[in-house]
Amino acid sequence: MSNQCCDVDPHSDSSEFQRSVRALKEIDFELAYLAALTREGLKPLSRWEKSLTDDDLVLLQRMGLLTRQVRRTVKTGREIVETIFSRTPGYIQLYEQAFGNTPIDKSAGTQRFEGFLFGYPPCCVNQYIRKPYAPNNLTQHQQKILFHWACRDCKITASLLPAYKRIYDSLDRC
Ligand SMILES: [Zn+2]
Repeated sequence: MSNQCCDVDPHSDSSEFQRSVRALKEIDFELAYLAALTREGLKPLSRWEKSLTDDDLVLLQRMGLLTRQVRRTVKTGREIVETIFSRTPGYIQLYEQAFGNTPIDKSAGTQRFEGFLFGYPPCCVNQYIRKPYAPNNLTQHQQKILFHWACRDCKITASLLPAYKRIYDSLDRC
């Protein structure tokens, strides 16, 4: 395993790529981490709910990601803008068709579809719908580097964790 900073894409020798990762980290570590996971294909699509400038979007695009801003509404009727990013146009289209200009909702059907788009194991999504944050046997750090709450003894999460950890650690060293 390499100890190189920002070694999230071993096939890329582009310093522009690394500059983008560092700049994203300055905005928010979690944004850089999500971008790296999505760039690596571990997450088909990711969503960022805080606001981003056009320059911030360019950083994501320099990492090879397609970006789109999607308008949603909250219960009060207020409009919010989400940013989604993915390597593949198909996932961007699926998200836009399902959720563009719609109110935010947390129904089981929505959670299942979001889980599919975000790369969450379906067993964990179903467990979360039945009972959120049910005890699992992950360490605090293992759970912290994931974006889904793992179900107990999850086989898929066990396979995902080393890949997530490699990316998390490489960003941490940046
Ligand atoms: Zn699971």
